[in-house]
Amino acid sequence: MPGTTDAKKEGEVEDASYTQSYTRHLERRLRALETEKQILHAERSRLEKETQTLRTELEKLRHSPLITGTIVELLEDGRAIVKSSTGPNFVVHVASSIPKEKLQPGMRVALNQRSFAITQDLPTSKDPMIRAMEIEEAPDVSYTDIGGLRDQLREIRETVELPLLKPDLFEKVGIEPPRGVLLTGPPGTGKTLCARAVAHETNATFIRVIGSELVQKFIGEGARLVREIFLMAKEKAPAIIFVDELDAVGSQRLDIATSGDREVQRTLMQLLSELDGFEKRGQVAVIGATNRPDILDPALLRPGRFDRLIDFPLPDEHSRREIFKIHIRGMNITEELNLDRLVITTEGRTGADIKAICTEAGMFAIREERTCVIQEDFHQAIEKVQGQKPKGKAPADMFC
Ligand code: ATP
Repeated sequence: MPGTTDAKKEGEVEDASYTQSYTRHLERRLRALETEKQILHAERSRLEKETQTLRTELEKLRHSPLITGTIVELLEDGRAIVKSSTGPNFVVHVASSIPKEKLQPGMRVALNQRSFAITQDLPTSKDPMIRAMEIEEAPDVSYTDIGGLRDQLREIRETVELPLLKPDLFEKVGIEPPRGVLLTGPPGTGKTLCARAVAHETNATFIRVIGSELVQKFIGEGARLVREIFLMAKEKAPAIIFVDELDAVGSQRLDIATSGDREVQRTLMQLLSELDGFEKRGQVAVIGATNRPDILDPALLRPGRFDRLIDFPLPDEHSRREIFKIHIRGMNITEELNLDRLVITTEGRTGADIKAICTEAGMFAIREERTCVIQEDFHQAIEKVQGQKPKGKAPADMFC
């Protein structure tokens, strides 16, 4: 039965080719499913990671906030006295995760809301409040912008400029450079100006801190800020720290009555300890300024602290002439300006007054639609600036 055998063979061939193509199809499908499995696997791990991130984020959001505080004292039993930002001082425990040697008085820490325990140490530098201090990387004032004050400038240069520029000179001679310089004198006599000029000439960063702001604006944080200012100065060395209105921080300690007084005292103590740590300060000079040297705490004036006093008196005739020349330098002035008359009529005025007089004279010219400033403008300006002075005592008398 040849016909039957042929049909059977044909059937077998068909089956075989069907099985072959079906196997190929199944293989393709398997490969596709394996690829899909890999994709799904990757997707799953991505989603797992995302869930973990969201869980952590949620955890963070659920956490109660921590309170910031400042360490006042470390006790022998391992606890610490902290001043919380919410007000009073607390005796608190320290989390064991913080190494004890890392903590020190004046440091900023995070406190647990319920137990007030120290749970984290916070970074001390780059505080936004410090950035709010006046910082100038090498100010643009030079010695030629200062009228008179020759002796004062010479003394500042010896005591501040030399140790910053040539520290090795002092080593060779075998003496310690003077530590702090205190500039005293009525307001507006050029104390800040001189300090800025020294910073300019020595290419130092000029950091101006105002004493009254330290104790009023940053209540409870004065001591910490003083510490951080010195730290920052070291980072930015060479630097000059200029503490204006030093009397606000450094007035004589009386019997401490209020918590405000205690706060001022803590700030002063921190300032003294920073001044004492001069060797470690490196190329950082400290200049203080006050118009009330009589009320300063003697501890500030002790040798090794603000031991060089430089007095800034009201400018005499010669100095007033120089200051006028500096401030009219860039002005469009009539040729017949009688400078002698201006110098005589400004007896008892400060450098700041003379600067204000020059600006006012310019304003009078502008008011009369002139571009050239004449003698009369200056006399009107002198009267105006005189009128703006507080009535009663002359500036010289105000300075005690
Ligand atoms: P305060 O005690 O109020 O801080 P100060 O003694 O530091 O006052 P400065 O801020 O130095 O006074 O002076 C104010 C401005 O007066 C200066 O920016 C400068 O323009 C002018 N001035 C003061 N003295 C002089 C001077 N000797 N030569 C030139 N300009 C001066």
